[in-house]
Amino acid sequence: MKIDHLGIATGGIEESLKFWEDALGLESVHVEVVEDQRVRVAMLPIGESRIELLEPLGDDSPISGFLEKRGGGIHHIAVEVKDINESLAKLKAEGVRLIDEEPRVGAENCLVAFVHPKSANGVLLELVQKTA
Ligand code: ZN
Repeated sequence: MKIDHLGIATGGIEESLKFWEDALGLESVHVEVVEDQRVRVAMLPIGESRIELLEPLGDDSPISGFLEKRGGGIHHIAVEVKDINESLAKLKAEGVRLIDEEPRVGAENCLVAFVHPKSANGVLLELVQKTA
C-alpha cells in the first residue's frame, strides 16, 4: 500500500496553483472534472504520491460544505489498493463504516470508494484502484 494522493479543498484551483506551482515548485499535470463527485481536480505529483486540489463545481458539491465549515485544508487521504472489492469486503467484515459499499469511477478513471471518518480517526479515507 502507498499514499496515492492527499486531497486538499480549495475555492479555486488557479488561485491555489500560485502557491503549489509558482511558489512551491510542484507542477499540475492533469486537470479534470469529476461530475459524479461534483468537483474539478488538479493533480500535482510529489515523490511517489500526488497532491489533489479539489474545487467544488457548485453549491451541491461536498467540497462546498467542507469549505464553508473549515475554509480549506486536507479533505481526504487516498491509499492505493490492489483489489478494491477485496479491500471493501475485508473492511466490511471488520465492521468498518463505509460511505461507498461499491466502488465508483473517480478521477483518471480509477475505481474509488470512501471510508467513513468515524471509522478512521476522523480522516476521510479514499481507496483507489488504478485501472489499466
Ligand atoms: Zn481523492
